Amino acid sequence: MGSLHESDISLSPPQLLNPEFNPLNIQEFRTQAHRMVDFIADYYQNIESYPVLSQVEPGYLRSRLPESAPYRPEPFEDILRDVKSDIIPGMTHWLSPNFFAFFPATVSSAAFVGEMLCTCFNAVGFNWLASPAATELEMVVMDWLAKLLKLPKSFMFSGSGGGVIQGTTSEALLVALIAARDRALTALGSHNIKKLVVYGSDQTHSTYTKVCKVAGIFPSNIRVIPTTSDDDFAMSPTLLRKVMEADVASGLVPLFICATVGTTSTTAVDPIGQLADVAEGTGAWLHVDAAYGGSACICPEFRHFLDGIERVDSLSLSPHKWLLSYLDCCCLWVKQPNLLVKALSTNPEYLRNKRSELDSVVDYKDWQVGTGRRFKALRLWLVMRSYGVANLQIHIRSDIRMAKMFEGFVKSDPLFEMVVPRTFSLVCFRFNPYKDSDPAYINLLNKKLLDLVNTTGRIYMTHTVAGEVYMLRFAVGATLTGDRHVYAAWKLIKESAEALLKRSYYIVS
Ligand SMILES: *Cc1c(COP(=O)(O)O)cnc(C)c1O
Repeated sequence: MGSLHESDISLSPPQLLNPEFNPLNIQEFRTQAHRMVDFIADYYQNIESYPVLSQVEPGYLRSRLPESAPYRPEPFEDILRDVKSDIIPGMTHWLSPNFFAFFPATVSSAAFVGEMLCTCFNAVGFNWLASPAATELEMVVMDWLAKLLKLPKSFMFSGSGGGVIQGTTSEALLVALIAARDRALTALGSHNIKKLVVYGSDQTHSTYTKVCKVAGIFPSNIRVIPTTSDDDFAMSPTLLRKVMEADVASGLVPLFICATVGTTSTTAVDPIGQLADVAEGTGAWLHVDAAYGGSACICPEFRHFLDGIERVDSLSLSPHKWLLSYLDCCCLWVKQPNLLVKALSTNPEYLRNKRSELDSVVDYKDWQVGTGRRFKALRLWLVMRSYGVANLQIHIRSDIRMAKMFEGFVKSDPLFEMVVPRTFSLVCFRFNPYKDSDPAYINLLNKKLLDLVNTTGRIYMTHTVAGEVYMLRFAVGATLTGDRHVYAAWKLIKESAEALLKRSYYIVS
């Protein structure tokens, strides 16, 4: 035995604090989960008492929390207490009815309980067999939503296409782009990747450029079509055609066009049908990013924004923005799912099974970047069933009505003006008290106004710049927002502007 002594070997099991430790003790789960639901309901109830935009300084949390994880378990009540004292102050309250920044992130009781159920099963549904219901419900709800949007059969499983729930628009764009890229490279040979050119406008979401780089598109082959206020910042089909023809003339290959219905900056709508005319015959894949604006198209009176959709290759829309679903949920429909599968499928031994091999089922791992995936279809299913199409339409119309109301305030006030026409529930406006003054000065004044308003903590708005005009964005749509919030927000903006005006007389004179 050499020099080994009995005392060197620990024969007793490691000391456990609680030999009965069970991380899923059913009784404890029931108690804590009920307690948490109460905590959340109280938070929603009191949400207006917090500053909408968090007022903390960077690094605020590190000094408040211990340097290491606790060795011994801590009571649930202590943890909840710290959520209240340490976490909530560092939250910007996206669910506040006074949140008018970016785009809304709408939520609902139905989506919340759907999320609970999704978490409950923790189904890792990478293929059909991993949880048949997870795959099949996703196929059903994607067809339901497609029908609601009046998409053609060519995007539905009941037709020749299909849909998949991605995390965000970035992933939706990436998989569509990779499907298009691999189709092109199959014909051209992979060494020709340097010839592939992609197109968007200067209003296309910034993630598009990132996605193109990730997909291996040469940065010098990412074309940005300039827009102007004359076209309300929509992509010009004429300009796109010119740029594409020049590329073809110099031996390059048009690969992908990203059009947008409801741009992030000002909700501009690119003319899908006319862009499809340009794409036709070039071999380029036409994608429509309708992350926010697409949701409005469930109402017949807004469906025209998707006119021409039957001629595109793919469409994405994020219900986590405007269709009462929690993050993350981006729906992607494609006409040729086989191109996604060709580009993204994997077939390791450990996932092999008869159903997949017979090609009789959808294996969603082949439609996305990752392998494991959550059962997010439950959320959409609960939202659609709990509210019905009727209420979903009411929800959209109500937000648009409130945005119209705010637009009315802006238009009837001589100190303010609209900068771009309102299309959905976003109002882009600015303070412009001296109609003829220096544009740079008006931009500065609006920056100051935004700061002044946001530091009150009473509302949160953001800004954008388009056509060199700095403008304020007032996005209506947080689930709890009602008329009185919109009215109070306008009052605050107006009062702040008047205060600024008094001060700026000193600055100017
Ligand atoms: C918000 C937005 C995105 C990003 O969407 P996510 O799905 O939330 O990542 C992309 N495109 C447009 C037009 C958007 O408005």
